Amino acid sequence: MTAPKAALLFLFLAGSGLTRIAVAQGPPSPARTTPGGGETGDLDPRLVKLVGSVSEERLSNILRKLQSFETRSSLSSTTSTTRGIGAAREWILQEMRSYSPKLQVSFDSYVVAKQGRITRDVEMRNVMALLPGRSPRRIYVSGHYDTVARPGGQGASNAGGPAPDPDARSAAPADPNAPLDNLAPGVNDDGSGTALTIELARIFSQSGIDFDATLVFMCHVGEEQGLVGARLHAQKAVAEKIPIEAVLNNDIVGNDKGGNGIIDGATIRVYSEGPEDSPSRELARFVQRWGGRYVPSHKVRPVARPDRFNRGGDHSAYNQLGFTAVGFRESRENFTRQHDVRDTFEGISLPYLAQNARVNAAAAATLALAPPPPSVTNERGQPQITRAPTGYDANLKWTAAPGATAYRVFWREAWGVDWQHELLVGNVTGLVLPNMQIDDYVFGVAAVDAAGHESFVTAYVSPPRASTEIKTAPPKH
Ligand SMILES: [Zn+2]
Repeated sequence: MTAPKAALLFLFLAGSGLTRIAVAQGPPSPARTTPGGGETGDLDPRLVKLVGSVSEERLSNILRKLQSFETRSSLSSTTSTTRGIGAAREWILQEMRSYSPKLQVSFDSYVVAKQGRITRDVEMRNVMALLPGRSPRRIYVSGHYDTVARPGGQGASNAGGPAPDPDARSAAPADPNAPLDNLAPGVNDDGSGTALTIELARIFSQSGIDFDATLVFMCHVGEEQGLVGARLHAQKAVAEKIPIEAVLNNDIVGNDKGGNGIIDGATIRVYSEGPEDSPSRELARFVQRWGGRYVPSHKVRPVARPDRFNRGGDHSAYNQLGFTAVGFRESRENFTRQHDVRDTFEGISLPYLAQNARVNAAAAATLALAPPPPSVTNERGQPQITRAPTGYDANLKWTAAPGATAYRVFWREAWGVDWQHELLVGNVTGLVLPNMQIDDYVFGVAAVDAAGHESFVTAYVSPPRASTEIKTAPPKH
């Protein structure tokens, strides 16, 4: 947790609340040299224990139970107690309720009118488990529990076959006469994300840890009809000013064998919407940093795009309404099993799913213990970064985050994606880096509490400039 000494000649606190750092000539030396930013000195032993309590056996039991409903299509039966979406959501509700009296488990229900791929008016219910924290700000872990299966599945769609891609926004509406309670086991899509979410509801609610943020374990519905459950919940969050700070969405995270035969059980992709220093990108970097520290045997691979080509996921529904959200996707997909009757338990690697659950647990728990990320903009939305006092320095200012006792400043050359340098400063709201040309670097700052829990970074980004129209006059002779 100490500043990189090679880069420092001296450090003193100015009375103005600014920390002035003098750096050695030339660019500062890298603050971290291990891949993924990984040091190990600031792990919280309670989180080590939490991450270690993910159970493959419990994930297995959840997946087998989800498969037993045969279909969880959002338009399947709501009256059967053993088959279809109604039985599935009731089981998920009761299962999460059984974990801890601290968990507030409820249906988040909406009546959705017939439209698009929704072939009749239908009541849709997200299942949400809320673990109240000291503060109302919320961290979400999510998956979607609904399923779909169509002839040929995703494999036929990718090969240019006749089956529509149910995830594509341009897909034709489903045949209104087609039975929507056909077999659709959806054990990987998205039983895997659902099981991960349910298992994290258990370990977090039973951890005895007093989190600052409120955690929400959300099993979305209607994803296969166009992210319906996630969109409705995000709309509600906007209308009711629910402070969603971050969403970790998991969709297809349980299979480690690509349909092309290539196996990768040691990495997970994390997709995020740009531009490159958007809050969602910072959240992806955060997952890489803290997932990599608590689960060093698993590699987080951030991918700098919203999602895969022609595919969608619930995190995008949150992004579109201004929330910070990322999507976890297994590294090597088997398209022949997706949206297909072959998406069964046999296609799951429990060790792989458990590793992905551990990465989610590490990221969500660190975020929920850390202060919220600091703001680096003024009232007019401008980044508080200047060249003062000499005209050639990097002068950063930020707004104090509640609960922070220190801040970590990050920077990198403005050509690249990963932070290259970091510096822990005290409980101050500014930093001057002499002779650091602000035009050549990207800067950001994270809030840190007394125990070392760190928020994701807020970067100093200029808002896009509006074009100014130049008026012309008629030519004069
Ligand atoms: Zn899915």
